[in-house]
Amino acid sequence: MNDSRIGVYICWCGTNIARMVDVEKVAEDIGKLENVVVSRNYKYMCSDPGQELIIKDIKEHELDRIVVAACSPRIHELTFRKALENAGLNPYLFEMANIREHVSWVHTDREDATIKAGDLVRAALKRVNFHEPLDKLSVDIDPATLIIGGGVAGMSAALRIAEADKQVYLVEKKPELGGHAIGLDLSFPYLNSVSSFLEPMIRKVKEHKKIKVFTESTIEEIHGYVGNFETDLKLNGKSEALKFGHIIVATGLPAYDPTPIKNYGYGEFKDVITSSEFEHMLKSGKITCSDGKTPEHVAIIHCVGSRNDDYHEYCSRTCCATALKFANQLRSTLPAAGIYDLYADMRAFSKGCEELYTKTSERDILFLMFD
Ligand code: SF4
Ligand code: SF4
Repeated sequence: MNDSRIGVYICWCGTNIARMVDVEKVAEDIGKLENVVVSRNYKYMCSDPGQELIIKDIKEHELDRIVVAACSPRIHELTFRKALENAGLNPYLFEMANIREHVSWVHTDREDATIKAGDLVRAALKRVNFHEPLDKLSVDIDPATLIIGGGVAGMSAALRIAEADKQVYLVEKKPELGGHAIGLDLSFPYLNSVSSFLEPMIRKVKEHKKIKVFTESTIEEIHGYVGNFETDLKLNGKSEALKFGHIIVATGLPAYDPTPIKNYGYGEFKDVITSSEFEHMLKSGKITCSDGKTPEHVAIIHCVGSRNDDYHEYCSRTCCATALKFANQLRSTLPAAGIYDLYADMRAFSKGCEELYTKTSERDILFLMFD
């Protein structure tokens, strides 16, 4: 062990941490470890008195490294680094253990939570021994931005940045910009044609003098450091070197494949299709069964693969509104068909979606709730 002199501070965060973690025990146990000169617990470490405690201890006990066990470093790492600086210590001789978000907020057993908090503080203690004093450097940042993905998200970001007069490199692996939106017929909640906003957007991106578009292009590696990156873009056997300071990853999403879910018969029955496949049918302008006939009854099933611990436990947040959109499109295209919307909960909640639900429910659609 080296001869470092470490101060450790366990925060209560009022009752946020102290109700689930025995902060006094953690501080006492840690205080017995080698190189720990001071180990305290305090109600609010980020408060002025909390920071003063650290500053005073650094000066009085000649501490050369500090560990604070409190909330996420994203919230207060800079606060405590500043306290070290104010005490004349290099601010990077500091380590933070997150015993709030990673312990007290997610555990229900006080004894287990206390053990875990102690382990995290011990790990931080080990780590802080490896810290070296660092100097702050200033470097120029390349103002150009690389955007990976030419879908709606990538193009929107490209236009925002280019309108601020900054260079953008927009990279898309497919031959055309547009991403998933190319395959959509209408948007929700206002049932507007997707191509009516997508095509002008693509045109604007292609014509903007500050946006350089690379289609059928891929990126294998990016080198550099914060604010100064570079890559060799792969274009049709050729490559082009690019330099940029910022990267936006807007690579989109793969459509969900429901094959593993056996009870709906996807993959077994030709007329059970996914929403992406139905969008293609809508774009083609013709809704038909696999035998070419017009369907007499259509069921739309919600939550396939979502809100289910065996697949994805979360709510996808967009498919209820998509289902309402489909119900409207079906009713307009097939006025005589029975249309059934099978839902577990109706979670269509963003702007205009409640109105879409009301409008849809007035169009002779049968809504059936399942459990
Ligand atoms: Fe709460 Fe973090 Fe402040 Fe402690 S340092 S009182 S955990 S916000
Ligand atoms: Fe999708 Fe609606 Fe189910 Fe959520 S509740 S997963 S939005 S269908």
